[in-house]
Amino acid sequence: MPRVRPKSRILILYTGGTFGMDADSLTIPKLGAQALKRRLLERVPELGDLAQCEVEVLMNRDSAHVGAPEWLELARRIRARWRGFDGVVVLHGTDTLAYTASALSFLLRPCLKPVVLTGAQRPLAALRSDARRNLISAVEIAASRKPGRLAQVSVFFNDLLFQGNRVRKRSAVDYSGFDSPKAPALARVGAQVHWHASAFQAVGAAPRLKDAFSSRVAMLQLTPGFPARAIRENLLPELEGLVLVAFPSGTAPTHDPEFLALLDEAKSRKIPVVVATEGVGVTGSEYHAGKEMLARGCLWSGAMTPECAFVKASLLLGQGEGVRFASLWRRELAFEGVSQR
Ligand code: ASP
Repeated sequence: MPRVRPKSRILILYTGGTFGMDADSLTIPKLGAQALKRRLLERVPELGDLAQCEVEVLMNRDSAHVGAPEWLELARRIRARWRGFDGVVVLHGTDTLAYTASALSFLLRPCLKPVVLTGAQRPLAALRSDARRNLISAVEIAASRKPGRLAQVSVFFNDLLFQGNRVRKRSAVDYSGFDSPKAPALARVGAQVHWHASAFQAVGAAPRLKDAFSSRVAMLQLTPGFPARAIRENLLPELEGLVLVAFPSGTAPTHDPEFLALLDEAKSRKIPVVVATEGVGVTGSEYHAGKEMLARGCLWSGAMTPECAFVKASLLLGQGEGVRFASLWRRELAFEGVSQR
């Protein structure tokens, strides 16, 4: 008799978001694990063919209400449960999914199993919802037993699988709501799944970090006429770290003495300032207006997304005294792209 391969075991962790919202009112019903499992199997009956799924409800929240405490809760739950499973699927709202995926990419190192985050632009209960397809593909990917398996935190949306800490939400209406402007997609799901080699890279040894985030990090988008004095006088004294999102070539209003005074004050208070940009292929030192920030002690984020830069800065500053921020900042901890452009 041919041997039947047992199905993969998948843990589905639900956190809320549009995926589970009521189709008309866009409110989040308070679902327990049993009710959610029933609903999932009703709407997506093929789940049972794909894998042996266990469902847990961690919270019922709009992802606008998810932050560091919830990232830690998710990471702890995954660590506590992943031994018994082949992979984990996290259902999450899309608004802050890029932050949660970045946080999990650092907290779950070394990531031994596929952890796939997904969500939806339309509730599962709505007609023409993308929730069904996203869930099916996320479970299929998490359950796939390819050799050299996908052992990292990833995000699946529409037909693309991305590295979790490289995604950005690009649309609230298109079904392809995410992209990864500075890193190739890990896989494209069409009639077949086409994998990219980067899906199977394994994170090397990296320092163990505590599960802790500073809650005193701000991320500010630079603008012409940036109110540097107000920030230096009022905000800086409250901060442990500052992420500046520079203009696309990594430049800033360095012609303004108040802006330079802000950087100098941060340096003298030992508040790390990291510079991220949405621009692609940038080193931060092409232009004088970018170099000057680095010369004043700011740290460059490479190809990291602003979301990931914020999460990494908050994590490193959560480590407390004695942890050298600058050297850890420059270190690639989870392929976040700090050494790329
Ligand atoms: N506001 C929702 C959330 O992030 C949006 C979504 O899930 O698409 O939870």
